[in-house]
Amino acid sequence: MRLLSNLFDWIFPPTCVHCSIGVESLALLCQECENLLEQCVIPNCELPGQTAAGRPVWGLWYYRTGSPIRTCHRLLKFEGHERAGSWMGKRAAASLQNRMKSNPCVGIVPIPSHRVKMLERGLLPTHVIASEISLVLHIPEKPNLMIRTALGPSQSALKRDERINNLKHAFALKDHVAGRHFLIVDDLLTTGATLDAAAALIEENGGTASLYAIAFRRETFGSLRH
Ligand SMILES: [Zn+2]
Repeated sequence: MRLLSNLFDWIFPPTCVHCSIGVESLALLCQECENLLEQCVIPNCELPGQTAAGRPVWGLWYYRTGSPIRTCHRLLKFEGHERAGSWMGKRAAASLQNRMKSNPCVGIVPIPSHRVKMLERGLLPTHVIASEISLVLHIPEKPNLMIRTALGPSQSALKRDERINNLKHAFALKDHVAGRHFLIVDDLLTTGATLDAAAALIEENGGTASLYAIAFRRETFGSLRH
């Protein structure tokens, strides 16, 4: 297998997914792009962002045009690049380690997509991220706990109020959640309406949830903190 992998690397030398410079075969980003990540880190990471309804959301990076995070996120979401998702999941897990110790949960719930969307894309981006967090933190992932029942217009095409209305009754639970605490994972935080809808459903059924997003749109976070 190693020979085969060496041969593959020789024919298709691995490159940084952001700037295309040559890298070690296991690295997703070159060192220069890794250093760029520093500019995307949410300052004072002890402060959470916030959803439209005021629920705290923990996260790791700002989502900026031209940033390596944006490249990795788009690779996962639109090109089914699982390694980019696993990489984001590993980084997320490292940032969650202490928080999960003080706020333990029984399962990690990826924000679901409608099955039509999943068929189109071939994977669920949030599941790729959540399964990696689950692996690192030894907390079971619950990808089937919640399903998306409505196939409304894409959230990214909607304004703030439209996003919130679009998501009412968009999710359904497939198991009991009463008395249990979950970590709900989304890829990107814009208004937080998606996380609000998922958390509200769990709360209405007697459970509780901590919320996590891989990256925040800066304007969302910035308006609250600066
Ligand atoms: Zn690079």
